[in-house]
Amino acid sequence: MTSAGRFAPSPSADLHVGNLRTAVLAWLFARSTGRRFLVRVEDLDDRAKDDVARRQLDDLAEIGVTWDAPPERQSDHEARYDGIVDELTARGMTYECHCSRKDILQAPRAPHAPEGAYPGTCRDLTDAERARRADTGRPPAVRLRSAVAEFTVADLPHGSYTGVVDDFVLRRGDGVPAYNLAVVVDDAAQGVDQVVRGDDLLASSPRQAYLGTLLGHPSPSYAHVPLVLNADGKRLAKRDGAVTLADIGVELTLRQIAASLGYAATTVAGMLAEFDPARLPREPWIYQPG
Ligand code: GLU
Repeated sequence: MTSAGRFAPSPSADLHVGNLRTAVLAWLFARSTGRRFLVRVEDLDDRAKDDVARRQLDDLAEIGVTWDAPPERQSDHEARYDGIVDELTARGMTYECHCSRKDILQAPRAPHAPEGAYPGTCRDLTDAERARRADTGRPPAVRLRSAVAEFTVADLPHGSYTGVVDDFVLRRGDGVPAYNLAVVVDDAAQGVDQVVRGDDLLASSPRQAYLGTLLGHPSPSYAHVPLVLNADGKRLAKRDGAVTLADIGVELTLRQIAASLGYAATTVAGMLAEFDPARLPREPWIYQPG
């Protein structure tokens, strides 16, 4: 399978100009390195909506972000994720966890563990403790039994990045495969070896790359690109005003994206001719909706 880059939006809301800019960058990275480009619909979450997924694909096509294979939907692959959880379980690399979010936040944390990192409460329970916890009635999540505390990835703007790998969730208590599992399994299944996405996901990449190595997949090259923020320095959102393609139109959207990246060209093909990964902006783009 030839190598590929991808854009993998969650269809919970229409893409705004910041998401579209990340998609353009992912496309530029892939095309400039001779890779195929794929779009994947990450619709495992119950906030995913079919009409939103359709509009996201239409919007990408309208700005010229083209893909080389029909977009896959994660909801079509539940058996694929369950198979991997079963494989890891057979290898002794998972355990069931009965903790609620509150349990996790209230548990004592190791000195340098970030807030929300799993403290390992259910990792080494005795059979009796396990049975007592199972009695609470809440179906358990399945966690990875990580053999490392951190992992290092290579990222283009960020260089060598080392981040926490805790015993993260592979399958939620409600049976839904976790994002960190699905993304790794799908990238590998689709031949994705270049991951370009918003830098809010940088801290997740060590977990994902580590899981990939357990499954025998080499780590992709990463480029976590700066997010687009509103005038208050918060992540851009629909409530900030005119931010979607439907609000702004194709031409202005492309002009704004090109200007934010320092390109004279205002088509994706033109931007490709100017693209230089070493000259990526390192600061967030502050977007003021008109
Ligand atoms: N679906 C994720 C999101 O929309 C992105 C996943 C990824 O690029 O790895 O935030």
